[in-house]
Amino acid sequence: MKRLIILGAGTAGTMMANHLHHKLNKKDWTIYIIDEKEEHHYQPGYLFLPFSIYKPSDIIKSIKDFIPSSVNLIKGKIDRIVAKDNYVQMVEGNKYLYDILIIATGSRIAPEETQGMNGKLWHKSIFDFYTFEGALALRNKLLNWEGGHLVIHITEMPIKCPVAPLEFAFLADAYFKNRKRRDKVNITYVTPLSGAFTKPKSTKALDYLLKEKNIALVTDFAIAEINNDNKTIIDYSGKEIAFDLLVTIPTNKGDDLMERSGLGDELNYVPTHKETLQSKDFANVFVIGDATNIPASKAGSVAHFEAEILTENIMHFINKEALSASFDGHANCFIETGNGKALLIDFNYTHEPVDGLFPFPGIGPLPLLKESKMNHWGKLAFRWIYWNVLLKGIAIPFVGTKMKTAGKNFN
Ligand SMILES: Cc1cc2nc3c(=O)[nH]c(=O)nc-3n(C[C@H](O)[C@H](O)[C@H](O)COP(=O)(O)OP(=O)(O)OC[C@H]3O[C@@H](n4cnc5c(N)ncnc54)[C@H](O)[C@@H]3O)c2cc1C
Repeated sequence: MKRLIILGAGTAGTMMANHLHHKLNKKDWTIYIIDEKEEHHYQPGYLFLPFSIYKPSDIIKSIKDFIPSSVNLIKGKIDRIVAKDNYVQMVEGNKYLYDILIIATGSRIAPEETQGMNGKLWHKSIFDFYTFEGALALRNKLLNWEGGHLVIHITEMPIKCPVAPLEFAFLADAYFKNRKRRDKVNITYVTPLSGAFTKPKSTKALDYLLKEKNIALVTDFAIAEINNDNKTIIDYSGKEIAFDLLVTIPTNKGDDLMERSGLGDELNYVPTHKETLQSKDFANVFVIGDATNIPASKAGSVAHFEAEILTENIMHFINKEALSASFDGHANCFIETGNGKALLIDFNYTHEPVDGLFPFPGIGPLPLLKESKMNHWGKLAFRWIYWNVLLKGIAIPFVGTKMKTAGKNFN
């Protein structure tokens, strides 16, 4: 029997297990999937926890409920990959040999990378919402917070779901307005980028929304440290911004096991061919989701498109054919803007988000790069789609792996 091992049973690993158990011949192949956790978290729900829109039970399910019974689910912490000898070494001591390896170990926050971030104010006046613990602690803080200067801050790119901090700012504006406390709160959005987002046309639309909601924007801020005594964030040029409540997106990194395995770049992301999703160093190793270093967004929607491409390429690899399935960097994200509205963006490696209609050119019904209630319902429906369609590796009707240019205004 040959072995295909998937590392990580989060969004991307679970999708791959569901695709491959249909495709691989069970007489020849055994599939293993390894994760240290027992719970699967719907991470997009972390955005809604602080505002009491979702509760914890809305976003947590058991990993095993999503893994097909023919796939062997192993609980344990992976210590390292010894790629030259084709095995995975577990912290608990056991080893798993593989013929094909899929790395889907995601990314995590690393507050320890910034001086003063996880000091005495961590989860007291300095919060993240990229972890379950951080989002929950922030919910409890916001319930009783009297007001003051709220600073929403990104440490450095790339981060998962790069629009989530903006969504947090918009939802915070709506949250305090609805509680008649907006006049007691100043909101500042601080980013290392030169505008609100990474792509020019969406930056223009999002800059406008920040102004409309009276959210101050500070750009090009490369943080050096956080002073816990004065409650300030300080950048390398000496610029200081005071906060009463800091909501930060710490540096995001791939898992430390990549460093131990000698497989990661300086942020522990695995060098990966951006079209085929094959590792740049080992032909029988493939990488998917947030763990790669490819220049696509780190998002569940991206992992979903990648999973279809990677399944095809793994079948090509097994059949000793050229890896002809090619990922174009397709990403689509709803951007919650507060008060029951959202924007939608759809883009890939070569096309930035522009306005138009999605998914049917000329018909929609979802408008691109414009606020609408329909997009907000789409964002809320995404949770159901995630549990019932995406994780199971089912294609979303009318939304193909490749980005469509029809229906979009590129002029
Ligand atoms: C606040 C927030 C909002 C978001 N909003 C959206 C959104 O609106 N739309 C969207 O598409 N995406 C969104 N995302 C991003 C999306 O959740 C991630 O891109 C997606 O989950 C990545 O999937 P993954 O499989 O690569 O990683 P993960 O789902 O994080 O899975 C990685 C798995 O690997 C396991 N693992 C790692 N290291 C080890 C080890 N050493 N040993 C054993 N197991 C290990 C982990 O336990 C985990 O289960 C959001 C993310 C956040 C944080």
